[in-house]
Amino acid sequence: MSFLKHSIRENVQQLLREIPPGIKVVAAAKAQPVEALREALDAGITVVGENYVQETLMHKAGVARAAEWHCIGYLQKNKIKKAVEIFDAIQTIGTFELAGEVNKRCASLQRVMPVFIEVNSGREPQKSGVLPEKAEELIRSIAALPHLEVRGLMTMGPAVRNPEEIRPYFKEARAVFEHVKALNIAGIQMRELSMGMSDSYRVAIEEGATMIRIGTKVFG
Ligand SMILES: *Cc1c(COP(=O)(O)O)cnc(C)c1O
Repeated sequence: MSFLKHSIRENVQQLLREIPPGIKVVAAAKAQPVEALREALDAGITVVGENYVQETLMHKAGVARAAEWHCIGYLQKNKIKKAVEIFDAIQTIGTFELAGEVNKRCASLQRVMPVFIEVNSGREPQKSGVLPEKAEELIRSIAALPHLEVRGLMTMGPAVRNPEEIRPYFKEARAVFEHVKALNIAGIQMRELSMGMSDSYRVAIEEGATMIRIGTKVFG
């Protein structure tokens, strides 16, 4: 434990200095008071990652600065209607059923939702996301949904002790990303690869992440 508690501003500035230009930082804001989120946005964060619809409403109400709001948590079916009203992107689309529900709700709002396909790179039964070998098929079927716009992939990877141990999972997510990108499926963009958290973002960036999702390293 360090005796020095760095401020959120310092944390954000240090992170933004450290990472290569063009990599987006999503501030993972679960369980944070709105003041902390405001501080992060004042320091240069532009994308907020949220796990819960209720908490997102509270955060949005308390923040004046413009930001992009991404759903990075598991989306329950009974929360989809609200979610499509409040999010700018949903990073956790792992089944066609969920995609279809989001599409339907977006249709009634006459909007198109940017989405990321969540890949279960660790093949963990308890985790959501499509298996790597099923991703292409899922993406091809989602391409037919007019109210969803696939922007890329997201992966969590398994919890590991040493960040180096997560590298193979990030490599696999990258391989799926490159594979689907090369298919040039009409209506599908493979621009964003969202992977890496506070302990693993350096490895993730080495393996091709374009977007990292950071909680602890921003908020302490
Ligand atoms: C909490 C969370 C993060 C950030 O985790 P840290 O280890 O605190 O950086 C990233 N992604 C998702 C989906 C999360 O729920």
